This record gives sequence, C-alpha cells and structure tokens, in this order.
Amino acid sequence: MKPERLVRPLVRALHPYVPGEQPKISGLIKLNTNENPYPPSPKVLRTVKAAVDERLRLYPNPTASLLREKLAQLHRCKPENIIVGNGSDELLALAVRAFVEPRSKSKVESPRSKAAATVQYFTPSYSLYPVLAATHGARTNAVNLAPDFSLPPLASLKKSRTWDFDAALTLITTPNAPSGRGYGTSELEKLCRAQRGIVVLDEAYVDFAKENALALALKFPHVIVARTFSKAYSLCFQRVGCFVAHPVLIEALDKIRDSYNVNGLGQIAALATLDDLPYYRRNFQRVIATRERLSGALRDMGFEVFPSSTNFIFTRPPKLPAQEWLEKLRAKKILVRWFKQPEVRDYLRITIGTDAEADALIRTARQIVGQAR
Ligand SMILES: *Cc1c(COP(=O)(O)O)cnc(C)c1O
Repeated sequence: MKPERLVRPLVRALHPYVPGEQPKISGLIKLNTNENPYPPSPKVLRTVKAAVDERLRLYPNPTASLLREKLAQLHRCKPENIIVGNGSDELLALAVRAFVEPRSKSKVESPRSKAAATVQYFTPSYSLYPVLAATHGARTNAVNLAPDFSLPPLASLKKSRTWDFDAALTLITTPNAPSGRGYGTSELEKLCRAQRGIVVLDEAYVDFAKENALALALKFPHVIVARTFSKAYSLCFQRVGCFVAHPVLIEALDKIRDSYNVNGLGQIAALATLDDLPYYRRNFQRVIATRERLSGALRDMGFEVFPSSTNFIFTRPPKLPAQEWLEKLRAKKILVRWFKQPEVRDYLRITIGTDAEADALIRTARQIVGQAR
C-alpha cells in the first residue's frame, strides 16, 4: 500500500508555511526572521534558569492564569479577555478553526455559506494566513494593498466588490509585514466597523510603532488583537503569544485549544518579562534609532526604503535584482529575507540588528554597489 494514500488529499496538496532559515554558521549576521538583536533581560534569564529543576516533571498551569492576570492588568481588561498561545501562530490557527467553516463540498454555494468559509486578508501580508486557511479547507480572499502598502480606503473596498464585508475571518497585519507600514487606529476602526465577521488585528510588531489598536478589541465584540512575546520581547524561543478579545470569543478559542498549550518555562519567562518592561522599552528605542539610521544610509546609496513602524525595513535595492543582493550579502555572511512572490520579488526585508550589525551591512552594501557600477 502506498502510504501517500493514507494522507488526506487536502493535506497532500498543501503548500506548508516556509519559515526563514535558522542556519548555524558562525559569525553570521542574521537579519532574516525579525528576531530582536537584544537578549531577554537578565532578570528573565535568571528566572527561567531558576525554574529548571525537578519540577519539569509536572504539567504547567493549564490556563496560564498568572500570566493572563498580569496581561489583563497591563491592558486594563479582565483575564477573561485574554487567551495565551504557543506563539500567536497557534492562536491564529485556533481562530480559523473556531470561526470559519470548512468550504462546503456542494457545487451550489450561497453567498452566506461562501462568506462563512472565508479567511480574508490583504496581500502582501503574513504568508502564514493562506496556509492556515488551506489547512482548514477554508476559502481565501486575498485583496491587494495599495502600491505603497497603505490600506485601500473603505470607499474603494466597497466599490471594488472583491472585498468581503461578511467574511467569517479577516486577518490584518498591523503594522504590516513585510512592508513595515503602520496603520492608524482610526482607519482600522472604520474598517472594523464595516466588517460583519471577526477581524484579527495582528500586532506582532506594534511595540516598534507609534500607535496600537488594542482599544478596538475592548470596544467591539468582533475584534481581536493579537500580540506576541517573540519579536519585541526577545522570546521567540519560548513561543508565547496572546489574543485580547470579547470573553465569548476567548471562551470559544479556549474550548478547542490543547489543555497545556503553553509550556511552563514560556509562562515563567513571559511573566518575568512583564516585570521588567522598562528594559524592553529601552530596547525598542534602540531598535527604532538603528532603523532610522540604517534607512537613511541605505537611501543615500540608492536603496528605496519604505518608512517602517516595525523592527525591519522593506527595501528595493539598487543596481542588481533583489535575489542577487540576497546572494551577495549571504556570501559576506549577512542573511536577509527575500520573497519570491511576484508582487514583492524586487524587495529585501531586512531585520534591524544591533548598531554594529547595521554598520557591517552598510559597509558591505557599499562594496556591492561599488562593484556593480
Ligand atoms: C512573527 C509573527 C507572528 C507570530 O509570532 P509567534 O512567534 O508565533 O508569536 C504573527 N504574526 C506576524 C505578522 C508575525 O510576523
């Protein structure tokens, strides 16, 4: 028997999410996956180390209750407004499963059943979204952002007929990835008001932006704000993210998650992080300062650099195709991200590293520009 035949056709046909590389090359300057260049605070490291003992044999707190209480204090809401996940990626997957119907098999589909099976998002945005929809057997509705990566105005979405105001789930990366573009809360609020399904505002990078839309999750029963400890809080390794939303939505997600979805060391690390926020806020300012300096230096060399509200920049390099830049930088041990999708293949996404890493990138880019003359 061919084992392939034992796998569901949907899964056989699935194109999985492709994470950025995590190569183990010594001396590599790793600017490809938007990790924070600064380590967790000394207090977080001490607390995690102190927790590694014979207690590892015990199950962790199944509801992450201490962490949810602390997050609720921070966000001025109740623990019932919060669910914690194994990274926000897990929560995004749970949202698809909790709020979206798999596409119906029957040929005749009513507009209503179509909308109920739709995961909607702008493109380009987080490339995990279509994978989550496909895994669930849901439809996707991908609608282009404006050429400068701004949100299409509500009036034009209404006119276009491609945007679905009844979609069961709309996922908005804000600030946007991979462009880095930030969106104003009032603009997001207008869009949320017009949607009749659930809207997730995926704020993975919001700590590097001027505005956040958390208030919308506490104002509207159909709006969820997604946050993660990964990027801004230097905790990718521990996999901790959360949703803030109406208790009824949180309860629905809670029903379908694994009982012990957040590992114990992750809960401990996240709690200690929340005790040390000034350390992290200083790092946000350092990353923002490096981002602005690097953007300026690259623009001087002829790079087109989009304004960023994140810990990365999105840039169209001069002289050579972006993919060639990727390879030339890699040969100099600088790893950045290039996406082959047609709408973004002319760009590089570069994570903001330390100042020394930015200097190395600037030096290397000057050499490459010089040789390309
Ligand atoms: C990194 C990222 C996430 C997921 O972060 P986790 O590590 O799973 O918490 C979610 N959305 C966007 C847009 C991201 O870039």
